[in-house]
Amino acid sequence: MITKAATQEKLAFGSPLVYPQFAILDPTTTYSLPPRQIANGAVDAFVHIMEQYLTYPVDAKVQDRFAEGLLMTLIEEGPRSLKEPTNYAVRANVMWAATMALNGLIGVGVPQDWATHMIGHELTAMHGLDHAQTLAIVLPAVMQHQREKKRAKLLQYGRRVWNLNHTDEDALIDAAIAATRGFFEQMGTPTTLSGYGVGRESIPKLVDMLVKHELLALGEHGVITPEASREILELAA
Ligand code: ZN
Repeated sequence: MITKAATQEKLAFGSPLVYPQFAILDPTTTYSLPPRQIANGAVDAFVHIMEQYLTYPVDAKVQDRFAEGLLMTLIEEGPRSLKEPTNYAVRANVMWAATMALNGLIGVGVPQDWATHMIGHELTAMHGLDHAQTLAIVLPAVMQHQREKKRAKLLQYGRRVWNLNHTDEDALIDAAIAATRGFFEQMGTPTTLSGYGVGRESIPKLVDMLVKHELLALGEHGVITPEASREILELAA
């Protein structure tokens, strides 16, 4: 990620040439982090998994089960990592889940979304919000806006990750979105624009920046147009 403060832009690039050759993961190095950065780490990892999981079914059972296990680990250990900041096992579980969330494994052979990240980057560039804070705002709104296209995976997510068993499918999806929002808020991360003092008047400017950056067809189907991004931001207000 590169941020250019002078023009309030934050843009992504990726290449195998910049992929790390190895990583040293020592949970004790996280003990001194402030609670906000612990929350940011857990929320960002959660959304990385969702970007690779909450799309549409392709019969990728291993990837799905891996993703669900990582999500459940973060739901269990995220709040504990705030309450028990020097619990080695808790920090180790969060660190390993965060690594597995974005080292490529769960994304192999499955469709990927990343709309939440692309919209969130504009929020960081324009308003200086932490990366994970922007994701906590945008993801629940993307889930709501894309609930028909993501319907099958939303039901699977609600049943397997949150153990929801509503007979009414729409009620189950509503509960799954509410549970997701509840997890972010439990981590101390508000899930609306207003929770960070960002008003609706910013939405047209944020959409203009998506257009400027040619982010015109986001999501796993490429159907999140600038107009759809505007609707998502309105849902997140
Ligand atoms: Zn991220």
